[in-house]
Amino acid sequence: MKKMVIEKEKLKHNLDIIKNMTSSTIIAVLKGNGYGLGILDYARFLTENSVNYFAVSELDDAILLRESGFESKILLLTSTSVEEEAEAIVKYNIMPTVGSQNSALAINEAAKRLDKIADIHLKIDTGFGRFGFLWDKWDEISEFLKDLKNIRIEGTYSHLSFPFEKKPKSTHIQFEKYRKCIDGLKANGINPGILHIANSCTFLRFPSMHLDAVRIGSALLGRIPIENRYDLYKIAYLKSNIVEVKDLPANHFIGYANTFKTKRPTRIGIVPVGYMDGYGVEKSRDTFRFRDILRYVYHDLKTFKKKIYIKLGDKKAVPVLGRISMFNIVVDLTGTDAKLGDEVFMEINPILIESTVRREFI
Ligand SMILES: *Cc1c(COP(=O)(O)O)cnc(C)c1O
Repeated sequence: MKKMVIEKEKLKHNLDIIKNMTSSTIIAVLKGNGYGLGILDYARFLTENSVNYFAVSELDDAILLRESGFESKILLLTSTSVEEEAEAIVKYNIMPTVGSQNSALAINEAAKRLDKIADIHLKIDTGFGRFGFLWDKWDEISEFLKDLKNIRIEGTYSHLSFPFEKKPKSTHIQFEKYRKCIDGLKANGINPGILHIANSCTFLRFPSMHLDAVRIGSALLGRIPIENRYDLYKIAYLKSNIVEVKDLPANHFIGYANTFKTKRPTRIGIVPVGYMDGYGVEKSRDTFRFRDILRYVYHDLKTFKKKIYIKLGDKKAVPVLGRISMFNIVVDLTGTDAKLGDEVFMEINPILIESTVRREFI
C-alpha cells in the first residue's frame, strides 16, 4: 500500500503567503493533474479558499472541471485551431489562449455557429518561441481582430523563459516587449483586458510584474527554482508500510548492479515503492520539468551515490540501501525498533508521482 498525502494546512499556509504578497488576481495553474496533487481535489481546495480562476494545459482537464461542477474561470494555456476542440471550448465556456490567426478564426467561427461571444486570452510571444503572436506585430493583430465579432478579449498575456536567471536581463527585455505590444494594441483601439505575465518565480522576484493577475503553479506546492526565502512549505509526502523485515549477514549485496554491500549484520525492511511510482527519479531538482524524468532515471542509475532517506513513524530517518528498484526499496532498520507493517514516510515531488498512486487530502 502507498498513498500520497497532501496537507491542506500547509497548502493554505502557502496560499496565504502568496495572497499577502499581492493584490493581483491569483490564477491557479492546474496543469499536469494539478501538479500531481489530483486536479479535482486540488481545485476543490482552491475554491474553498476563494481562488476562482484556474489555468490548465489540456482541454480534457478543463472539460473535466466543468463536468465536475466548477464554475470558476478557466484559462486554457494552449492554442488550438482544431474545429471540434474550438467548439468544445466555446460550449463549456472555457477561455482559450489565442496565439495565432488560425486559432482566433477557429474560436470565432465556433462561437458564431453556437451564437455566442467567446472570451479569450491573447498570447504574445516576447521571446519564448512557443504559442503567441510575435510581440512587434500589434498592427497586424489589431487589424485582424477587428473583424472577428464573436470573440472578446478577456486578457492578454506572455510567458517568460528565464525568470530564475541570476541577472535577469532577458526577463526585463521580455517585459519591455510585452509592454510595447500592449501599448500598440491600445493605441489601435484594442482593449487587451487583464494583463498577466508572472509565473511563480516571476511573481516572487519581481513585484512590479504582478500586473492584473499572476499565474501561480509551483509556489503553491512550495517548490521553486530559486532560493526559498519566502517560508513556503512542501505540502505532500508519500506514505507506505514496511512489508518485509529480514536480517542479512555482513558482506551481502543489496539491489541491482551490486552497488551496495552490507558491512555488518544488517536488519533490512522492504517498502513497496519504486521508480514505477515515480519515486526517486528526482533528488535535488525542484523545478517543474517532467520531460526530463527519463534522463534523470538514466543519470541516477549510472551515478547512484547520494544517500536517500525515508522516515520511520518516530521521525527517525533511515537510509535506502542499494538502488531503487522498479517496485521496491530496501531500507536499513538496524538498531531501530521498526516492525513489520509500520508506516514509513517519503519526501517526494508530487508531479513526478504516477497518477495511479492514490492521493489523499488531509
Ligand atoms: C506552467 C505555467 C505557469 C506556472 O508556472 P509556475 O512556475 O509553476 O508557477 C504559468 N504560465 C504558463 C503559461 C505556464 O505554462
